[in-house]
Amino acid sequence: MDVMLFNIQKFSMQDGPGIRTTVFLKGCPLSCQWCHNPESISSLTQESFNERRCIQCHRCAGGNIGACPTEARREIGYRLSVEEVLLEIDKDQVFYEESGGGVTFSGGEPLFQSQQLLTLLKACKDRGYHTAVDTSGYAQWEDIERMLPYTDLFLYDLKHFKDELHRIYTGVSNQLILENLKRLSKLNCTLWIRMPIIKEINDQPDLMKDIGRFLASLSPQTPIQVFLLPYHELGVGKYKQLGITYNQQNFLPPSQLDLTELKSILKSFNLDVKIGGYYD
Ligand code: SF4
Repeated sequence: MDVMLFNIQKFSMQDGPGIRTTVFLKGCPLSCQWCHNPESISSLTQESFNERRCIQCHRCAGGNIGACPTEARREIGYRLSVEEVLLEIDKDQVFYEESGGGVTFSGGEPLFQSQQLLTLLKACKDRGYHTAVDTSGYAQWEDIERMLPYTDLFLYDLKHFKDELHRIYTGVSNQLILENLKRLSKLNCTLWIRMPIIKEINDQPDLMKDIGRFLASLSPQTPIQVFLLPYHELGVGKYKQLGITYNQQNFLPPSQLDLTELKSILKSFNLDVKIGGYYD
């Protein structure tokens, strides 16, 4: 069974506890306008060209991408067998043990390749690794449910609480996402909610109150941890490299003051809230 990936990141510190290996699966049913990994959206391979790295040697002439000595031109996306992915994961076993880390499956949407994800999660659990699934929640409930026995932590994204705006900014409705979150919260699993915060898009205090009320109503068996992730522009250059028009409006990060206010709103609903990545 092959897995379509675009990266395996070692020594990741932001995708769950401890030192982790994050496996980025390619393909996503959402197309968030602020996505900082635009190469994750298509499930197909893509050609990328980084002008600044090009030394004009023309070895790539005739479409010979692999001949590029500087990786200015390269193919994004590759297939590995499940066994090959596990070989990469196993290399850092000692770091997982010493740091309380493990393996995170991210994307794209890892549930997009649900059979591959299930096989990988089972194999990781067999080895005793801590496992996390970083998901948009936009998946069939049956697929999420199948992962439950082998998933220690769900990193669950909430992009926008208003359905009409969720549709505009991500291309899909948030109804399935919220429904799956409600169901997941009733089960015995650990949930970290991650919200990208973008100025004037989803940083309104009233909106945050609605989210706080909703999350507080879930009353899960294990307390929900919420992370507010301020928007950053690090992915913008990738659009050009992939030949994708960056047609987004000028997204901006929220101010520190606004973030602090949003955090205190959520905390007023007895939620455990952090600003930034896991180690913030
Ligand atoms: S092979 Fe790479 S460095 Fe050489 S011309 Fe092509 S893109 Fe530029």
